[in-house]
Order: sequence, then structure tokens, then C-alpha cells
Amino acid sequence: MGCVLTYSFENDLFGSSKLPSLSVKKSVEKIELTGWIAGRCGDYIIIRTYDSMLKLRIGNGKAEQLAKLPLETLVRIYGVVSGDQLIVYMYDKLVEPVEERTIDYLEASEWDPVTYAKYSVWGVRHPRYRYTVMLQFHLLRYMREYLYKNKFIELLSPMISVSSDPDLRGARKLKTRFYGVEYELTSSVIMYKQLSVAVFKKIFYVARNIREEPVENIDTGRHLAEFTQLDLEYGLAGMDRVIEIAERMLKFVSKRIADRYNELITEKIGLRREPVVFKPPFPRITYDEAIKLASRLGYEVKWGHELSFEAEKALAEYFETPIWITNHPVVSRGFYYLPCEDDPRYNMDFNLILPEGYGEVIDGGSREYRYKQLVERIKKLDEPLEKYKWFLDLVKQGAIIPSSGWGLGLERLTRYLAGHRHIVYASMYPKPPGLTGTP
Ligand code: AMP
Ligand code: MG
Repeated sequence: MGCVLTYSFENDLFGSSKLPSLSVKKSVEKIELTGWIAGRCGDYIIIRTYDSMLKLRIGNGKAEQLAKLPLETLVRIYGVVSGDQLIVYMYDKLVEPVEERTIDYLEASEWDPVTYAKYSVWGVRHPRYRYTVMLQFHLLRYMREYLYKNKFIELLSPMISVSSDPDLRGARKLKTRFYGVEYELTSSVIMYKQLSVAVFKKIFYVARNIREEPVENIDTGRHLAEFTQLDLEYGLAGMDRVIEIAERMLKFVSKRIADRYNELITEKIGLRREPVVFKPPFPRITYDEAIKLASRLGYEVKWGHELSFEAEKALAEYFETPIWITNHPVVSRGFYYLPCEDDPRYNMDFNLILPEGYGEVIDGGSREYRYKQLVERIKKLDEPLEKYKWFLDLVKQGAIIPSSGWGLGLERLTRYLAGHRHIVYASMYPKPPGLTGTP
């Protein structure tokens, strides 16, 4: 372990205010402390507790003996802290590992994305990542708070289905067998959202999705093979309505976090100088306008193709705020969007693109609900009708109504608010494209 530690007893990264038995105000303090031996560094021992990472000089009593315990031993310590010196009267070993831990998580802030994904179980003990998980928790709870307040009902998503989603461009679905029949693991709850809004008008899911993304997508910094969508749908509502809900929710959540957890972002995670506060309404441009502007900025996009990551980045930099890109060509998307009435070459859809190259975080639109049109579109996309029979049969008999909604990538939003260079750091057990064997 290197000895360059940015935290110490005096400068406790975990927010020292929550140290009931250990006050830093007095120079000599009696302590009873439960924590893990996280590291040793010359004359110092590093102890991790649930709410602090303490760097203490090894003092008298049994401190030296304590410091020799295998790393990650869980101990209860009785003693005195004098200045930065730990004097140990007595300690109990609560859990003693069979062998010493070999991964040094105190250095996890230096880990590249693949190393982090491999060892995140240890890495998440590092303050930067532990607090990123906390940020995600706050994000989720404030999004829920906003949606509950606005009378959205939270539903639970299925894990498997005959077919959960139109074929994903680029990504592959995972299959399983269910009583001998081939099923898919959920890659999106889009069809379930459409089914739900004929029962409950305003709904959302916090849905885990599995997609075998192309291996090279590990380099985009924004793709996980297992990720989470806050997936919202509003029965009989139009596109503007759900765009407004997304904007208001993002404003509410980011403001709450900035007001209450400023230090968590700026110090504990420590990658942003200021927390992000969204200031909607965000500019809206159509896909056609976007590719024209991208071309002026030096990024050619062929009509009907997705915008490249570079083009998205250039556009967001141009506006310096998140932007909505609306009305993508029908040919570039799945079959479930409603085409524009005045020009059916385009969808009633939208993406929210984050600034600083963080890219797409929301994908949404108004949904196709008409049987004939849906069948035509599935055929045009060369998808087998049979695969969607269960859904089409329901459409035929009136189970599906007009609706609009969106899906927001939770890990992508966490990554952006934290300021991480890669999405793996925004997931406690990340599964990035192509990497197997991780927990
Ligand atoms: P999609 O319908 O495929 O555009 O997905 C909806 C939203 O989920 C996107 O706007 C992203 O925020 C998020 N998302 C999609 N795919 C991934 C992925 N592989 N990893 C992380 N987030 C994703
Ligand atoms: Mg998308």
C-alpha cells in the first residue's frame, strides 16, 4: 500500500459529525470503536468504521498488536485517542479473515474502469465509491418522492418474458428457459408500461435491465450490460406532458441533493467543484436540426442513423445545457413509437442529452397503440410477428391505449451528478460489456 493518504483523523472524509464516541475536539478522548483494519502505513493504522476512515498513529498498549492483525479483521477497540495517536487498552476480534485481503481498496480512486468492475466489492469501501452509492440512493429516493407526490404509482417489473422489447440495435438479449419454453430476461419494460396504463393512468417502474451490449461499448463510458431504468408512462398523455415531468423531476432531485448533500458531491466523492442543479426548460431541437448542426460543427451523421457519441457531445457543448433531441426517423427506432401526424417519416419521440460528453440519459416518446399500424411497422423492421403475438393479441382486443413516457438511465444520471469518468463507478456491482466472472 502506498502511504499517500488524503484522509486522516483530523480530516475525516466520511464526515466526522457522525462520530458519536469519537470527538475530534478534545485532544484526549476515550473511545470504544468498532471497525475494520483497512490498512497500515508506516507508523499508522487505518481503521474503517461504518461512517469514517481513520488514520491513527500506532501508540501504546495493545495498538501494535492490533496493527498486526490481518487486514479486514473486524475489531472492537477500547482505548484512548490522544492527538492522532491510538492507545489501545483492549480489543475484541469480531470477525477474523482466514487469509489477509490482497486487494488494497484504499487505492481504489486510482483504479481504471475494468479494475474497478473486477474488484468493486472491495473498491466500494473507498469513500469515493461508497458515497457514489449513497448519491444513487438519494437520487432514487428523491425521484420516487417527486413521482409519488405527483400521483404516480410504482409497479414491480417482471424478470423474464416471452419477449420484453423489440430487438435492440446492437445489443443482444439474454435467453433462458421457462418450463422448457424459451424466454428472455427483461431488457426493457416498455410493453408492460403500455399494458399498465390502461389500468393505472400514471405509473413507473424502477426496472433492472439486461442487455448483452457489444464488447467495444465498454469504451463508451456509458454502457453496462446490467443497468437500471426509471421507466415512466402516462396514459392518454402527450409528449410535452411527460417531457415536462422529466424536467421538473430532474430539477427537484438535483436541487434537493445540492441543498442537502453538497459536501457528499464536492468533498466525499470529490470530483465536482459544485453540485449540478438542472435549470429547465432545456432547449429542444429536432433530429433533422441536430444532424444539420452536428454537420456544421464537423460531425457528419447520415440521415436515419443514430447520432455518434462525438456528435452528441458537440451538440451539448454548443448549448452548454442538457438538450432534447426530438422526432427521430421512424427507420432508426423500435416499433413502439407513434409517428408524427404531419410527417409519418418521423417519430413522436425524444432523447435527453447531458452536457460534458455524458450523453443520452432519457429516451422516450408517444406510443403506437393501433393494431394495423403496429403490425406494419414490425414487418417493416423485419421482426417476426410471431414473437410479439402475446402483445399484438392484447392490442387487437383493446388492452393498449395511447400513452407517452420515458426511461431514464439511473447509473448514467448517477455518473453525471458524481462526475465519474465511467459508468462502472456508478454501480455497486457493475457488469460492463464483455467482462465476465465478476460478482
Ligand atoms: P433505450 O430505450 O435503449 O434508449 O434505454 C433507455 C435509457 O436507459 C437510455 O436513455 C439510457 O439512459 C439507459 N440505458 C440504455 N442502455 C443502457 C446501458 N447499456 N447501460 C446503461 N444505461 C443504459
Ligand atoms: Mg436510446
